[in-house]
Amino acid sequence: MDFVPVSGRDMPRFAGIKTFFRLPVAPLDEAYDVGLVGVPFDGNVSYRPGARFAPARVRDVSSLGRGYHLSRELNWVERLKCADLGDVATVPVSGEETYRRIESFFDGLMARDKRFIAVGGDHSTTLPILRAVARKHGPVNVVHFDAHLDTYPAAWGQEYHHGAFMRHVVEEGLARENGVFQVGIRGPLAGGDDLDFPRRHGVTVTTVDDVRIGGLEAFIARLPAFEGPTYLTFDVDCLDPAFAPGTGTPVPGGLTTYEVQRILRSLRIPNLVGADIVEVSPPFDHADLTALAAVDVMFELLGIMADR
Ligand code: MN
Ligand code: MN
Repeated sequence: MDFVPVSGRDMPRFAGIKTFFRLPVAPLDEAYDVGLVGVPFDGNVSYRPGARFAPARVRDVSSLGRGYHLSRELNWVERLKCADLGDVATVPVSGEETYRRIESFFDGLMARDKRFIAVGGDHSTTLPILRAVARKHGPVNVVHFDAHLDTYPAAWGQEYHHGAFMRHVVEEGLARENGVFQVGIRGPLAGGDDLDFPRRHGVTVTTVDDVRIGGLEAFIARLPAFEGPTYLTFDVDCLDPAFAPGTGTPVPGGLTTYEVQRILRSLRIPNLVGADIVEVSPPFDHADLTALAAVDVMFELLGIMADR
């Protein structure tokens, strides 16, 4: 199998069977480096659903994806063997069973020494993925783009909703000590005590103000280096709803697509072992803005993975 996208100059980009970046579909055992995989589950959202439809929509829009990265001066297609691994067989009526299946799928990837980019799904899908990643790599750095802290307490007596995944990541010891770095956070919060958990556990919280006041360049200059195995989780609601309207819990006053690109291009992550993009909700999208932003983040992540 050669892991090359179908060329848009042979087959038009609107034609053909849709896979991530027009890559071949591969079984788990194939000789790819990076697996692209859908995790279509939105049973743990607190507000509006729809992220279960993200993998299909992002596949469709990813037909516009290309290989060459201008600022990194590399082509991920030439440096990485990538394949579409299909979707995890989630269970729409059971979060518990879905978690079991996600963990088992990613345990399989880890056993084969693969890297991956997952497309959720609501943000609760990141927890079982990180359990599998930490079983393989030990505690990892977690770079977390989001409008929300996602360290919130149980809601309706339920521990595993999409706003609590990061609390579980920390409590279960899946992240390195002081290894969680959040970008794009903004209010409003339910209460000032929402900040207690991240403060107590050494989570670095950076806000939209941190990006805007003093300027993007100053923010980028202060980005830490992420040594050791690192995971990146990208909640599309870190973007302003003007740039990413198709999401479950939109928060005004967010980052622009360009700011996110610049931050992603500036990250130094020599060992990005896996990543995900979550909370894309196509039923609330307009003109595929959000799906397209997700494709662009996938492209940047492939650039990071290829650049080492
Ligand atoms: Mn989130
Ligand atoms: Mn969020």
